[in-house]
Amino acid sequence: MAKLDIITLPDRKLRLKSAPVERVDDDLRKLMDSMMETMYAAPGIGLAAVQVGIPRRVVTVDVAQREDETAEPDPMFLINPKILWSSDERTTTEEGCLSIPEYFAEVERAAEVRVAYLDRDGKPREIEANGIMAVVLQHEIDHLDGKLFIDYLSKLKRDMVIKKFAKQQRLGPKPLAL
Ligand SMILES: [Zn+2]
Repeated sequence: MAKLDIITLPDRKLRLKSAPVERVDDDLRKLMDSMMETMYAAPGIGLAAVQVGIPRRVVTVDVAQREDETAEPDPMFLINPKILWSSDERTTTEEGCLSIPEYFAEVERAAEVRVAYLDRDGKPREIEANGIMAVVLQHEIDHLDGKLFIDYLSKLKRDMVIKKFAKQQRLGPKPLAL
């Protein structure tokens, strides 16, 4: 396992549509383990492969410790995840993204979803999720289609965020204050 670099705005790779995984093998499992390690270290509760620069339809999730820090980890690997159904009921949550550091905004999404995916053994599975899990799944599946949570904000707000990150990149790393 190895910790991977998470790409951030304005990296254009974040807008790529990820390709479906055709074979679940040890190489893929190695990538998923590295993604999980990267996600925990960030720390984050969800990560899509494209966020480490690999546009394949792979997602890691662990929401176990979000509400209870002492809870056992509950790592989940989703390959080719697809939303089969989403509820009409909506929910609004303050979201952030490891690829848009230190920016948070309220986003409205379906309150409940049913998602089909392959697990790390390549076995087809389905999950019905609500609460934070439903939000994370929708956020990560959006990443696989090149979509970011700021796309749900007003154009004005979104442009402000994009401009801020573009400017940061132009200026380069902050000088050391000695
Ligand atoms: Zn994200």
